[in-house]
Amino acid sequence: MDRLARAGLRRTNFRRKLFTLLLDREPYALSVGEIREHPIARNPDAVTVYRNAETLTRIGMLDRITDEKGRSRYRLNEVDGPNLKIACRDCHATVLHPSPRLPELESLAHELGYSGISSRWEITGYCEECGERRASRG
Ligand SMILES: [Zn+2]
Repeated sequence: MDRLARAGLRRTNFRRKLFTLLLDREPYALSVGEIREHPIARNPDAVTVYRNAETLTRIGMLDRITDEKGRSRYRLNEVDGPNLKIACRDCHATVLHPSPRLPELESLAHELGYSGISSRWEITGYCEECGERRASRG
C-alpha cells in the first residue's frame, strides 16, 4: 500500500481488496471475471476491476499475462525490473523469474537507439501438476 502512495495513487478500499484476493490465489493469474467472482471482491463491476488492474499493472505492482484465449490475467508482481513469466496454459499458475539475461537483452534495444524500453518475456507450458494430469489421461 505504501507503493501506491509513492506512485501518487489513492489507497482505495477496492485496491486493498484486489491485493488481498490476488495474494489469496497465488500463484494463479486471474481474469477480470474470476476477480469479480472472488468472495473478497464482493462483486464489483467489470470496469472497476479492469481499470484498477490496468493502473496497478502500469506502475508495476501487478503483472498482466495474456492467456491462450487472448484474455488478460493479473497476478501480484513481486519482482522488480524485467522478468521472465512462465505460465501454465491449463490452471494459469505463473512463476516470475528475474532472469539475469533480460537486462542484457534490453540493452540491445538501447544500443539500437531505443529509449523508454520495457519488455515482456513469456513462456507457456503445463505446470507439473497439469502435466501429470494430462499424461495420465493418455
Ligand atoms: Zn497447471
